Amino acid sequence: MTFIDQLAPYAIKHGRAQGVLPSLIIAQGILESASGTSELALKANNLFGIKSSSEWPGDIYTKRTAENKNDGTVYYIDADFRKYPTFEGCVIDLVQKYTHGTGRETSNRYEAVLNQTDYKKATAAVKASGYATDVNYPEKLNKLIEQYDLMKYDKGDGNVVKIFIDPGHGGKDPGAVGLGLQEKVLTLKISQKIRDILQNEYSEVTVKMSRTSDIYLTLSERAKLANAWGAELLLSIHINATPSGYGYEDWIYNGSVSAMTTKVQSAINAAVIKSTNWRNRGKKRGDLAVLRESKMPALLTESGFIDNPDDAKLLTDNAFLDKVARGHVNGIAEAFGLKRKTVATDIPGPSQKEDEELKFSSPSLKAETEVSLSSKARREIIVAAAIKAGAHVSWKDKLKNNTLTDADVLGLAVKYTIAVNK
Ligand SMILES: [Zn+2]
Repeated sequence: MTFIDQLAPYAIKHGRAQGVLPSLIIAQGILESASGTSELALKANNLFGIKSSSEWPGDIYTKRTAENKNDGTVYYIDADFRKYPTFEGCVIDLVQKYTHGTGRETSNRYEAVLNQTDYKKATAAVKASGYATDVNYPEKLNKLIEQYDLMKYDKGDGNVVKIFIDPGHGGKDPGAVGLGLQEKVLTLKISQKIRDILQNEYSEVTVKMSRTSDIYLTLSERAKLANAWGAELLLSIHINATPSGYGYEDWIYNGSVSAMTTKVQSAINAAVIKSTNWRNRGKKRGDLAVLRESKMPALLTESGFIDNPDDAKLLTDNAFLDKVARGHVNGIAEAFGLKRKTVATDIPGPSQKEDEELKFSSPSLKAETEVSLSSKARREIIVAAAIKAGAHVSWKDKLKNNTLTDADVLGLAVKYTIAVNK
């Protein structure tokens, strides 16, 4: 069994469940443990150099570790590392670090590592968090991910929700027409907006469309495509017609339907009305082919009346179409419990693999340090000295913006051997 075969099941199990890409975990394991041949990997199943701390209830492996003084001299210390029965423990701890942060800061500096779908963004976020000293760390990880095709471990259905969007009509069938508008054009526009919002703003969701251009498909073909893909929702987008009508309505099949079908209808109906402020024509049931022939929960929505002057005016307004799309998305997100993507922030971190925890030899030293850290003047001195000693200049911006935590200052002081206390 190769090292990757051994590590992959744990990376998939714990990474996917917590929004950490398995490819990232495996590449870090390869790089940091030299594919499981490092002393820590062989003696302690510890692939990521995870240090022990007072809360660690498990076994400890003590290892001589080289440290560099600021003047370049090397000295050795005995460092305590966590010893695990299998690789699984260290994967759990690495994932926990990404999801919970260091515990020494008010915000999680690894936030941007989470819920990525692109491994390059994940490795860049690891670098930005200050995880490793090596400036080439993300490039090395990217190379390993590509070399061993580790992206394949990121795929798989897992918890990913498959949403099939069907823009009504198309090609030779324009659908309803009126007041210079064609239903097939509007349904495609709204569908594309729904797809884009879902993909850009939500994690663990994947979208497929019955058509992305002006082509003709029968109703049965649309249902068949959704069935073949194994969609969890078929959402068919339409615009209504008849000059006397206005507002929004939606349809589910009038035969037997799953509880999820009615849940989706209720959620989308409420969310579209909320977002558009349209008159609610109601949650309806009917024998429509695309609903009848699809195997999964299916909903057909009718957003406004193309030949009603008030609705038509709204449908020519791009900002209003955004509201229509967002209403649909909000309903889908609620019904399926979709998670929002976390917004990536670029946090310049100390260019070292941070210490797991800082130990103080006495409570008075701890108190004295905390007082010093809260002094603005002292913070400025520490940051200036750290930059002079090689820390990234962006630390100065963080100081100015008041985004520098006590732990950051302490980290800089420790790394660049600057006295914290006056
Ligand atoms: Zn239609």
